[in-house]
Amino acid sequence: MTEELSRLSVRKAVGLLGSRQISAVELTTAALERLHQADSLLHAMVTVTADDALAQASEADRAIGSGRTSALTGIPVVIKDNMCTRGVRTTCSSRMLENFVPPFDATVVARLKGAGAVILGKANMDEFAMGSSTEHSAFFPTHNPWDLSRVPGGSSGGSAVAVAADECLFSLGSDTGGSIRQPAGFCSIVGLKPTYGRVSRYGLVAFASSLDQIGPLTKDVGDCALVMNVIAGHDPCDSTSVADSVPDYTRSLERDIRGLRLGVPREYFVAGMQAGVEAAMRAAVARLEELGAIIDWDVSLPHTRYALAAYYIIAPSEASANLARYDGVKYGYCHMDAGSVWQAMERTRQFGFGPEVKRRIMLGTYALSAGYYEAYYLKAQKVRTLIRREFDAAFQKYDALVTPTSPTVPFRIGERLDDPVQMYLADVCTLPINIAGVPAISVPAGFAGGLPVGMQLIGKPFGEEVLLRIAHSYEQATSWHNMKAPAPGSLDHAG
Ligand code: GLN
Repeated sequence: MTEELSRLSVRKAVGLLGSRQISAVELTTAALERLHQADSLLHAMVTVTADDALAQASEADRAIGSGRTSALTGIPVVIKDNMCTRGVRTTCSSRMLENFVPPFDATVVARLKGAGAVILGKANMDEFAMGSSTEHSAFFPTHNPWDLSRVPGGSSGGSAVAVAADECLFSLGSDTGGSIRQPAGFCSIVGLKPTYGRVSRYGLVAFASSLDQIGPLTKDVGDCALVMNVIAGHDPCDSTSVADSVPDYTRSLERDIRGLRLGVPREYFVAGMQAGVEAAMRAAVARLEELGAIIDWDVSLPHTRYALAAYYIIAPSEASANLARYDGVKYGYCHMDAGSVWQAMERTRQFGFGPEVKRRIMLGTYALSAGYYEAYYLKAQKVRTLIRREFDAAFQKYDALVTPTSPTVPFRIGERLDDPVQMYLADVCTLPINIAGVPAISVPAGFAGGLPVGMQLIGKPFGEEVLLRIAHSYEQATSWHNMKAPAPGSLDHAG
């Protein structure tokens, strides 16, 4: 029975805690038990802070006992390991930061703590969030709970698996080109990338500063809305966070979608898309139509085809600048066995960074170098403007756009490791959204060959409420989100 507790949605658990049917210590103990049992096969977690979690849970029980509760009092959460946690190492799944213990909490972490959440630990990821499979972790790959031989997506693969396998009730991820939505789609859970500026990135280790956003990974859409209420909003420590007031996102769940205009851009049904994914998507759009939405299948966003190229100039360029700080002096790993300070710096970067991170630094340094800047970086920025304008124009006509989250179901571990372009293509449907800075959510939309398919809904800037409303209506009309990955170690996984 206790193990079952970690299957609860956040909202159900909040209700049971409030009515004292369960205690926060019971709930945290159940999640930790589940985590210990499942994670030896899934490898979602880099660091587990069981003692701290139980202490926070006791504190939550005291708060509940004296009627001082907040939105997430006693709810167990997992944090992607690129968000700073005071006193708990924050590795970015890199040798470079393997022993880095931040002296402060990221704003989102402080907000979760302020709302009473219980932090179970830090989730595995692609090194410095560069990747789509969590295979680029310097420590170990994470496995997909739906099929252990397959990737969970990335880079927030650990965060997605921890939620899908009920090792926690929800988690936080970061999304630069798809890293929340793509793993959410691959693991059959809900993942939201908010509008650029909606959630503070203070204390998020920077990858590409003009693209990075933090968002929730949850078991259902209602939980996503609830977590957004806690993490969204202005932060004086992040000058890119906007000052606009934060709506109560849970209110958006109350309305149906009759009369909403949804566009399906044809460029997102890319060559190489799997037939099963396309079939699931067509069925999902038909369901939205039954629910009263007005569907336009004849939408074209022609600049979409340049998004991947522009992203792989802009993101590595920003990364090469952001990662210059890892010089063996200020943070993290330092290679001591060197003849000079320059050699120490070289060796620190040689041994501290993995191959994908080095590839990005080289790409970015090249794109920014004298003589190439205009041809690459400046041109990519111009393409970015065109893509953003194209979305602006589309949102004059449509309340939201509907696409697949990924062109394929989860691929096999190892399958794309030797082919970076194939790996980059995993985000072909998600990265235009970061380029435009708009919000998008991935919701479970069925299965192809027994593996999860995600539907992506894209909204206007600060239009998260409409996305949650559509996603919730769809979820109410389907049962995908209730389907659970087979428990690792069970007969379902034999062979
Ligand atoms: N897969 C993309 C990349 O490697 C996106 C990663 C992300 O969103 N953090 O850049």
